[in-house]
Amino acid sequence: MAVVSSSSLPPRVADVIVVGAGNAALCAAIAAREAGASVLVIEKAEEGERGGNTFFTGGGYRFPYNGLDDIRALIPDLSDEEVDRIDVGSYPASKFKEDLVRVTEGRADESMVDYLIQNAYPTVQWMSHVAGQRWVLMYGRQAYEVDGKLRFWGGMITEGVGGGEGISESLFAQLPKHGIDVRYGSGGRDVLQDETGRIVGVRVFDATGFHDLGAGAVVLGCGGFEANAEMRTRYLGAGWEVAKVRGTRHNTGEMLRAALDAGAQSYGHWSGAHAVAWDMNAPPTGNRRIGDLYQKHSYPLGVIVNARGERFVDEGADLRNYTYAKYGREILKQPYAVAFQIFDQQTVARLRDEYRIKEATKAEAMTLPDLADQLGIDIGGFVRTIEAYNNACGEGDYDPSKLDGVSTRGIDPPKSNWALPLSQPPYVGFAVTCGITFTFGGLRIQADSAQVLDTTDTPMPGLYACGEVVGGLFWHNYPGGTGLMAGAVFGRTAGAAAAKAVRG
Ligand SMILES: Cc1cc2nc3c(=O)[nH]c(=O)nc-3n(C[C@H](O)[C@H](O)[C@H](O)COP(=O)(O)OP(=O)(O)OC[C@H]3O[C@@H](n4cnc5c(N)ncnc54)[C@H](O)[C@@H]3O)c2cc1C
Repeated sequence: MAVVSSSSLPPRVADVIVVGAGNAALCAAIAAREAGASVLVIEKAEEGERGGNTFFTGGGYRFPYNGLDDIRALIPDLSDEEVDRIDVGSYPASKFKEDLVRVTEGRADESMVDYLIQNAYPTVQWMSHVAGQRWVLMYGRQAYEVDGKLRFWGGMITEGVGGGEGISESLFAQLPKHGIDVRYGSGGRDVLQDETGRIVGVRVFDATGFHDLGAGAVVLGCGGFEANAEMRTRYLGAGWEVAKVRGTRHNTGEMLRAALDAGAQSYGHWSGAHAVAWDMNAPPTGNRRIGDLYQKHSYPLGVIVNARGERFVDEGADLRNYTYAKYGREILKQPYAVAFQIFDQQTVARLRDEYRIKEATKAEAMTLPDLADQLGIDIGGFVRTIEAYNNACGEGDYDPSKLDGVSTRGIDPPKSNWALPLSQPPYVGFAVTCGITFTFGGLRIQADSAQVLDTTDTPMPGLYACGEVVGGLFWHNYPGGTGLMAGAVFGRTAGAAAAKAVRG
């Protein structure tokens, strides 16, 4: 924490300094500028690595919609022919809330949940208008063909054109148009506070050393601490050192710590994180060419075993969007922190695009023992497990686009939906480990202003936060597509509120 005397404040470089340059931060920057403030963005990464986790995402946004009309309003270039082939259903606000509350085991901060859901659809529209963002339906990842139509499922059905890279590029493209400068290679190290407690700027570190930058308000949009092995282990627990980081190596939590030192309140699930099945041989942090394709999200179509050949989760507990973010942690707990996803020819054609990259750690065999041998799974244990699983599979109408109730009987863990026996060779297996996406703990904000609260629940003058540096929304688990949506909603809110506080 750096306290500066109000008689020797550093020169004001902008009304609002935004720390970070991902989805949340850039939405904040654009909203602050829209509200009349001058804005400077400081980004820790050099230009070639800019954009944080946002760059690595699939670009999926979760928002409520009442049916096809809402989707057509957002994607005006959907042709009638296309519309005839799809079934988008609806995703009412009440269902979004139910999903968010259910997967977070009732702990998500209700004021944040309500504000997020109320502002989600208007915010994707705002992104279209102010950031020129275009949208597309997630045909490959969130729809299955059922009765001749592509049926969308799971509440998140829309992504930004170009995925995470496309979103990142279209946000960056707006900055010069709005007169917003970005300083790359400039990492925030501290917040500057005057003797009244007001946040008056940021201390940054760049290639030439430390610099104090003055501002009327500061918005933190600098992500979680998932890329910091020491903080992962300290907060998430033993073993998290070995997790692979799915995205940027720059989200290392310095400004989160600085804000706490300055009196900000810690909030949310500090020992929780979003973590998924990620290729066993992926690099330690994200690769910008591969993006999110190291993930392996089609496990509801098959079974998952550990190196002893044992199943350890219910692969069909819920639609993929509601289990994938908590299963990375389960993989981390297994011997050697590895697991294997197994499919047969009944489902292999439905696997997502990420299974077809040449970097996938994969084996294929005509027999189960041969597959186990190639993947390094205990052969006896694997064969016993699959035989027991196959014998436990029940009857029913298989339908991967909904909870079909086709389940196992008499085995533990069960497979509660989509339980087809593994019986049609060649069998295919993919080796995965735990890939951490982002951390859940962070700063406490007031939902309708995104202003940071101190440890007495008092708003901290001059300090706002958005995106994954904020805690309180996600606990234990997460509904897919909510991170980008929450980042955009609270980013837009933070920018507008910070500008209003400075400009009046
Ligand atoms: C592979 C992958 C796929 C994902 N797919 C999706 C998806 O499809 N949908 C979804 O909703 N979510 C997805 N997510 C989750 C996603 O991370 C978030 O929802 C969203 O991108 C986070 O935005 P953010 O702006 O909070 O953080 P980030 O985009 O990570 O931005 C943080 C920024 O802060 C900068 N920074 C960090 N420390 C400092 C510092 N000290 N000083 C200055 N700058 C700093 C970073 O360089 C970066 O620019 C995915 C994540 C990953 C890794």
